[in-house]
Amino acid sequence: MSSRHSPCFILRTVAYGERDVIVTLLGRDSGRFAALARSARTSRKRFGGALQPLRMVEAIYTPPTRGDLHTLQELDVSEDYPGLEDRLELLSAASYATELVRETWREGEDARAIFELLRQLYAFLPRCEDNLDILCLAHHFELSLLNLYGLAPAIAHCARCAAPADTLPRARFARSGEGLLCEACRHAGEAVGVIHPITLQLLLHLEDPRNPRPSVPLEDALAQARRVIDTSVDSLVTRTLPARDMLRSLVTI
Ligand SMILES: [Zn+2]
Repeated sequence: MSSRHSPCFILRTVAYGERDVIVTLLGRDSGRFAALARSARTSRKRFGGALQPLRMVEAIYTPPTRGDLHTLQELDVSEDYPGLEDRLELLSAASYATELVRETWREGEDARAIFELLRQLYAFLPRCEDNLDILCLAHHFELSLLNLYGLAPAIAHCARCAAPADTLPRARFARSGEGLLCEACRHAGEAVGVIHPITLQLLLHLEDPRNPRPSVPLEDALAQARRVIDTSVDSLVTRTLPARDMLRSLVTI
């Protein structure tokens, strides 16, 4: 079988036996796939520093003749992100984004958009000046990923009738994760949480960073925005997210 190649990100590596490593990759053109890196444990020079996450690699691989395990032939770093691994806070945000993709993106799904989101996150993180920048970028990534799944909460308008947020007297968010609900669209007895106007402004910024970030202390707004986003993320993931917990204990404002 002839070999193929694709720019990839490595989502996970697992030792396999004494010599080999099983690698989970996200290929820009090929989508998610698993591949066997033969002798990767015994010979460092075989794949060198390319066999790790947080850098873009050009992978050359052959598809399986049976089963679903490809075989990696070559791996070369094609793009790295200077500074990304210099600060634990940045590393922790990048690891969480990688975890979120690994836990949700399935084989067979077109990966071009999620690949680009991940690439932008790795590239932009080192430009963050403080923890608030890092958290905003991580939340923007979550909302963008949810959007690709069609699961992002409606923020700028009512989820059901599209009435603009700025025409509503209060910002009520459905506890189901659907997003903003106007009074008319809320069903009788439907659970909602009212959020502060500053939180709504912050959510609009997290959804689209071209919207201005509120220039007031954001500790409370961030906690409230996080509950809105978590509801949607938790509807998507089936397992716990250790890197999310790590990010939150490490990066605080
Ligand atoms: Zn409505």
